[in-house]
Amino acid sequence: MKRILVTGGAGFIGSHLCERLLSEGNDVICVDNYFTGSKDNIRHLLNNHNFELVRHDVTSPYSAEVDEIYNLACPASPPYYQYNPIKTMKTSIYGAMNTLGLAKRVKAKILQASTSEVYGDPAVHPQVESYWGNVNPIGIRSCYDEGKRVAETLFFDYHRMNKVDIRVMRIFNTYGPRMHPNDGRVVSNFIVQALRGDNITLDGDGSQTRSFCYVDDLIEGMVRLMNTENFIGPVNIGNPSEFTIKQLAEKVISLTNSMSKLITNPLPSDDPRQRQPDISLAFEKLGWKPKISLDEGLKRTIDYFKKDIEC
Ligand code: NAD
Ligand code: UDP
Repeated sequence: MKRILVTGGAGFIGSHLCERLLSEGNDVICVDNYFTGSKDNIRHLLNNHNFELVRHDVTSPYSAEVDEIYNLACPASPPYYQYNPIKTMKTSIYGAMNTLGLAKRVKAKILQASTSEVYGDPAVHPQVESYWGNVNPIGIRSCYDEGKRVAETLFFDYHRMNKVDIRVMRIFNTYGPRMHPNDGRVVSNFIVQALRGDNITLDGDGSQTRSFCYVDDLIEGMVRLMNTENFIGPVNIGNPSEFTIKQLAEKVISLTNSMSKLITNPLPSDDPRQRQPDISLAFEKLGWKPKISLDEGLKRTIDYFKKDIEC
């Protein structure tokens, strides 16, 4: 049994990760300030004696004797990370420093949930890990993008200077059950709008692309990365099947048999035009590739939201 700390464990991805780590017999401490996460996401785990829940903000140090740390604490949806951009930056940077400091003291392995946003509005397509990115340092997405870039820098500096055993994973758009209905990200927005018969809000003409990964595939990649020796990343984890946002909207309408209509909103500034992970490195080093198609993942997510938004 390993003792594992998951920061941001009450969030969408974090709750699935806690579940997976507990199912493997580990002792899990979930730390969260509930900014975008919720106790509801991990309520079903509270009776498990190997699970501990701690209300804590990662901008302050936290201490526990652990073997591994997964650092996920950070709002991931644009409206939420832009709500208080200074706080978002603090969460990324102080959160990384505090968890890295802990990893150094207790000699724990530590994994950073980084993001495809480190590539910004990418000029290289699909995105490979060796690409340094095209990020606006002063725009409305910068608090998130630059915060995550600094966090990666801190991870590599703690590794070089203090021999901390790091893993850095660049997550591409991930979706699935337990996204919050008001989360603001495109998959949950479109599904909730379609199920309610509301207009589907397309930003711009919907020709921008994203590549959507189902959460179970992502968790498998995350755990493999933590458990693989002699490979620290950074590594892209995402589903390389690329769709325009308009295609996503049409798929959601068709899978929900919805009467919803598409409406157009202005495209937010700095919205990346295209995004698709090159996952050759993940396959080579982790033997990982996603298994769940967008259609299958959307069906599972739609089933979840049908129950979730009724109650
Ligand atoms: P989420 O918003 O559901 O989860 C983030 C969790 O962190 C929430 O539970 C939130 O309450 C918590 N949190 C935020 N600030 C905190 C703080 N200061 N102290 C303690 N807890 C705090 O988002 P998610 O989609 O589950 O994302 C998890 C991680 O994965 C994030 O670091 C995100 O940047 C990264 N990521 C996610 C995606 C994606 O598509 N879902 C893509 C790239 C990267
Ligand atoms: N988007 C959209 N309608 C929405 C929410 C998002 O058209 O209701 C677009 C958004 O402008 C972006 C894409 O969908 O081009 C993905 O947005 P999301 O917030 O999910 O993630 P990110 O931009 O961080 O990849």
